[in-house]
Amino acid sequence: MLPGCVDLHTHLASTATFTPLDDFERGTRAAIAGGVTTVCSMVYQEGTLRAGIERGLRDAATSLSDFAFHVVVTDPSDEATAELPSLVRDGHTGLKIFMVAPRFEERITDYVRVLRAAAAAGMLVAVHAEDHAVVARATAELHAAGRDGVRYFPESRPPEAEDVAIRSAAQLAAKTGASIYLVHLSSRVALAALAEAKARGLHVYGETRPLYLYLTRERFERPDAALWVGQPPLRERDDVDAMWDALRSGLLDTVGTDHYPHRRAAKLAPGLAFDRVPPGVANLETLLPMLYSEGVRRGRLTVERMVDVLATSPARIAGLRGKGEIAVGGDADIVIFDPDTTRTIRASEMHSACDYDPYEGWEVTGWPTVTLLRGEIAYAKGEVLARPGSGRLVARAALSASSS
Ligand SMILES: [Zn+2]
Repeated sequence: MLPGCVDLHTHLASTATFTPLDDFERGTRAAIAGGVTTVCSMVYQEGTLRAGIERGLRDAATSLSDFAFHVVVTDPSDEATAELPSLVRDGHTGLKIFMVAPRFEERITDYVRVLRAAAAAGMLVAVHAEDHAVVARATAELHAAGRDGVRYFPESRPPEAEDVAIRSAAQLAAKTGASIYLVHLSSRVALAALAEAKARGLHVYGETRPLYLYLTRERFERPDAALWVGQPPLRERDDVDAMWDALRSGLLDTVGTDHYPHRRAAKLAPGLAFDRVPPGVANLETLLPMLYSEGVRRGRLTVERMVDVLATSPARIAGLRGKGEIAVGGDADIVIFDPDTTRTIRASEMHSACDYDPYEGWEVTGWPTVTLLRGEIAYAKGEVLARPGSGRLVARAALSASSS
């Protein structure tokens, strides 16, 4: 028996111009079948931050799992900054910023103001830490050399982009007091920068993503390389080893899926340059089984650490009350887990709407047999029993100044 998993990083909500292949209904069906009972989805500022959250709430009306949001700040205006206290009062304590956005540096003063206000209001700020200048330069050089193919994707976003961005994120955390959650770290140098930030006593957390634990950049030698495009790219074997060490030691705090699949045809559209492939893959249903199979069964991770990175820590870091542990007064989100069942991953058997799985053909031992959401059976014996709309918004607690 395990607590239901908490995934702090998904893209299930729509935007003003785009509806994801896995919306809340499809995505959380996969989540529930995989033992994930709470998801945080990104939503995007639409004029106001509040409007982005309202869109998320409308979309999440079909959610099967419980949910919360991080709202992406695309325009760090005075008006957006002024909204933060009221969002926190309503239990929306998550922001996200993209350091890789073209205008991030240009608007740094505005972002600093947002971060100060976020710290004062007790919000957690998720940060996509790749440096725009490094990525833009590498991308331009590859294009200039006629290297447009997807095989060059890893070179367009080198570990240096993470290194530079994480160091500047740490400076921002030091300057503003903000609590920063670094999403999808992928490289050994990223982890070194995270370790330095933590050693300084900053409120900085690190997430990695399943892809970086199981796959290497060799995938980009294949003709179907685009299927594995995500940001950042897959790295070297040495980086994979570093990820496992950091999960074991506690340097990395969580594993978040960044669940954001696109159909095979969209990924493999002919003639797409490396920077035009839609990024992201499906990962909600396999998050727990693969970390158990490849981590715990192979002796790379204890069960306790697995539960910590998949449930306890994400719930605590994001202020998701009642989630992430099996406790009196908690929400009774529980997974009954069979450590001996072996299944081969087939996209056709997964609940995502996607027509391929990044781990197709992978033999995985250890699967959920029952998932309980707030004490109700949501999944049992291979069938999802929860109904669209059975998921609820989790009101997130504000971080206290002393929490770290
Ligand atoms: Zn993401």
